[in-house]
Amino acid sequence: MPLAEIQARIAAACDAAGRNAKDVKLIAVSKVQPNARVDAVLAEGHRIFGENKVQEAAGKWPDFRERYDGIELHLIGPLQSNKVKQAMQLAQAIHTIDRPKLATTIARHAQDLGQCPDLYIQVNTGEEPQKSGVLPAEADDFVAQVRALDLPLKGLMCIPPVDEEPSLHFALLAKIAARNDLSGLSMGMSSDFESAIALGATHIRVGSAIFGERVYG
Ligand SMILES: *Cc1c(COP(=O)(O)O)cnc(C)c1O
Repeated sequence: MPLAEIQARIAAACDAAGRNAKDVKLIAVSKVQPNARVDAVLAEGHRIFGENKVQEAAGKWPDFRERYDGIELHLIGPLQSNKVKQAMQLAQAIHTIDRPKLATTIARHAQDLGQCPDLYIQVNTGEEPQKSGVLPAEADDFVAQVRALDLPLKGLMCIPPVDEEPSLHFALLAKIAARNDLSGLSMGMSSDFESAIALGATHIRVGSAIFGERVYG
C-alpha cells in the first residue's frame, strides 16, 4: 500500500477520534524488508522507522543515515542486556523495556554515553507466557523503578494476542498509562492501527501494510 494511503487512513482515524494527526507518529517497521523497499519509503520523505533486532538495524541504518538526514530509529523487539549499549547508540527510542536488569543496564550506559533514547515499557496485556513485557499488575511498580533511575520514560507499549480483540488491550494499556501520568502509547500495527488511534495511540508501528509482506530467508 502506498505510504500516502496509510497517511490518509491515519488522518481519517484521527478525524474520527477528534485527534490531531500531528500527535500520532507513524513508525514504518522495516525489519527483514529488502533495502530497496526501505529506500523507496525514505525517498518518499518518511524518516521514522522501526527495527526488531539490534544486529539487523546496525547492518543497514548507518548506510541509510549517510544518504538521508533526520532518520529516527525505534527499536521494537526484545532487547538482550549485552546489546544495550549498541542499541542506545543506534536508536532514538526503545519500546521494549521489560525487566529491572535492563533498566539498570541502560542507566549505567546512559551515564557513560551522556545520552539515552526515549524509553517505553512493554506491557504483556494478554499475559501470554511466550511474550515479553511486564504483567499489567506489575506495571505501576516497574514504572516507579524506571523513574527512580532517572531515565527518560515516555510511555507504554503492547502487542495484543493475535486471537483477541485488540481494542481491549489498547484500552487497558491506555488506562495503565493514564494512572501513571505517561503520555506515550506505542500500540497498533498494520491490521489494527485505526482502533489504536481511537484509543489514544501516539506511536503506531506499521510494517507489512507499508512495505508488503515480509520476505524471510
Ligand atoms: C513486526 C512488528 C510490527 C509490524 O507488524 P505489521 O503487522 O507488519 O504491521 C509492529 N510491532 C512489532 C513489535 C513488531 O515486531
